[in-house]
Amino acid sequence: MTNPTGWKPSMEQDARPGPGLDGAPGAGGATRGLVHEEQLLFERGSTGRCGVSLPKVPPGQEPKDLPKELVREGVDGLPEISELEVIRHFTRISSWNHGIDTGFYPLGSCTMKYNPKSSEALARLPGFANVHPLAPAELCQGALELMWHLERALSEIAGLDATALSPAAGAHGELCGLMVIRAHHESKGNPRRRVLLPDTAHGTNPASAALNGYEVQQLASNPDGRLHPEAVRAAMTEDVAAIMLTNPNTLGIFETHIREIADIVHAKGGLVYADGANMNALLGVARPGDMGVDVIQYNLHKTFATPHGGGGPGSGPVAVKASLAPFLPLPVVVKEGDAYRLVTDPRERPRSVGRLREFWGNFAMFVRAWALIREYGPEGVAQTGKLAVLNANYVRARLAGTFNLPYETDSLHEVVFDDKLQKANGVTTMDVAKRLIDHGFHPPTIYFPLVVAGALMIEPTETESKETLDRFVAAMQAIAEEAKADPDALHAAPTRPFRARLDETRAARKPVLRWRPGMKVE
Ligand SMILES: *Cc1c(COP(=O)(O)O)cnc(C)c1O
Repeated sequence: MTNPTGWKPSMEQDARPGPGLDGAPGAGGATRGLVHEEQLLFERGSTGRCGVSLPKVPPGQEPKDLPKELVREGVDGLPEISELEVIRHFTRISSWNHGIDTGFYPLGSCTMKYNPKSSEALARLPGFANVHPLAPAELCQGALELMWHLERALSEIAGLDATALSPAAGAHGELCGLMVIRAHHESKGNPRRRVLLPDTAHGTNPASAALNGYEVQQLASNPDGRLHPEAVRAAMTEDVAAIMLTNPNTLGIFETHIREIADIVHAKGGLVYADGANMNALLGVARPGDMGVDVIQYNLHKTFATPHGGGGPGSGPVAVKASLAPFLPLPVVVKEGDAYRLVTDPRERPRSVGRLREFWGNFAMFVRAWALIREYGPEGVAQTGKLAVLNANYVRARLAGTFNLPYETDSLHEVVFDDKLQKANGVTTMDVAKRLIDHGFHPPTIYFPLVVAGALMIEPTETESKETLDRFVAAMQAIAEEAKADPDALHAAPTRPFRARLDETRAARKPVLRWRPGMKVE
C-alpha cells in the first residue's frame, strides 16, 4: 500500500538527537531544521543577565514610590535571561499549538471547524469590541440590535420561541436549561426528583442535572444505538422532571423516536431537554422544537463561528418554548418600538432564575455567530448541516471494513469506529491515535462515548475538503496495515514529535508546579 503522507515507520534518523539549540549541544536543545525543541526558561540564561532596564537604586537609598515591605532583597531561582530569549521561547512554544488553522482536527463531539476570518474581523470592529457593558442603552443600540437579531435567529433555527444569550458554554447552558426546568416545576408546586438520560449522554448532562439537585437515571440504548420509547415509558413517572437527549446522539445517530419519546415524557408532565452541542448536524434541516423539545442549549463555539478549545471563551445560549420564557435568566434583550433594551431588573421578570454571569454574556461570540448566520443565509446554514453529514459519511464509507463499526445504523455528522479488528494483533485505539500524530493528523476523540469500548469518534465537520479527508483516510488505512505487519512498532508511536509517547496522566497526578535547576522529576 502506498503511504501518501510519505512517512515510514522506521525513521531511525528521527530518534537521534539533532544539533543543539541555536547550535549548542545538549539533549534539551535539539532542532529539526528550523523546528526547535525547547529548553525550560530555567535551563537557560546566565547569572546577572537581565531582560529589563530599570534605574539602579543608589547604594544606601530606598527605592522611590515603593512601600518598603514590598521590596525584596532578591528572588531565588528565577531564570536570568534576556528579552530576546524570552520572546523566542514563548513565540516558539506558541507555534506548537495545533489548531484548526494549522491542520485537520477531527475531534468527535467537539465540532472543530474552521471559522471564517470575516466573523473575526467583525467581532473586532471598535464599536463592538469596545462597547462597555454598563453603557446606557441609548449609547449601544447597535450592539443590542445585534443581540436581538441573534436571539430571534437562534429561536427560529431551534423551532422555539425565546432564547437567553448569556450562558458562557455548553455545560453552562445545560445548567441554565435545567434551572429553567426546575423553576417551571416549582411554579407548579413540585420540583420533581429525577432526570432521565440515555447511556450515550455527554458527561456534562448528568453533572448539570446533579448540580440542580436531581437524581440521574440512566436509560440503556438499544443495539441500534438509539433510545427506544419502551425504555422511556418504563422509567417515566410524575417524579421525572425531564429527559436530557442530544440528537443526533453522541454516536452520531439520529434519535428517530424522539417525537414519541417527547409525547411519553409530556404526558406525565415532564419536559424534554436537548443538548444542542450537535446542532451542526441539523442546521436548517430539522428543528428540535418540531421534535417536541422544550429546552435546548446551543454551543455557538461549535456551531456558529467561534474558535474553541483550550477552555477559551464559549457561548451556550438557551432556547425555550414560550411557556418557559418567563424563567429565562437575565439579562434578556427586548425591542420596544424601534429601540432595544436589556431587561436586567428582576422586578421586571420576577420568575426569572436570575443572573448566571455578569453583564451580557460573551458578546464577541454573539457578533461572530450573527455574522456567520448572515453571511451564510438560510440556504448556507442548511448547507452546513448537509455537508457535515456528507463528510462524516464519506469517512465512514471509506474506512468501513478497515476499522470496525460498532453500530451499523447510518450516522449523521460524526462516526464512531472501535479497535476490535486491531485488538486481534494487540493494537489499541490509543496506538492508532498516537500513530496519527506521526502522519500529521490530530487524533480524533477516543474512548468516548463510553458505551463503545475503544471508541474512535471522528467528526470531520463541513469545512474540510475531500483531499484532506482522503489523506486522513489513507493515514488510517496505513495504520491498519501497520497493525497487521508490525503491531509492536505502534506501541511506541508517536516517534516524530520531540516528545514521544507521554504518560497520559502523570502531569495531572504528580504536577510539578515549581521547577528548580537540578531538580529531579521522576
Ligand atoms: C461539547 C459538548 C458539551 C459541553 O459543551 P462545553 O461548551 O464544552 O461546555 C455538552 N454536550 C455535548 C454532546 C458536547 O459535545
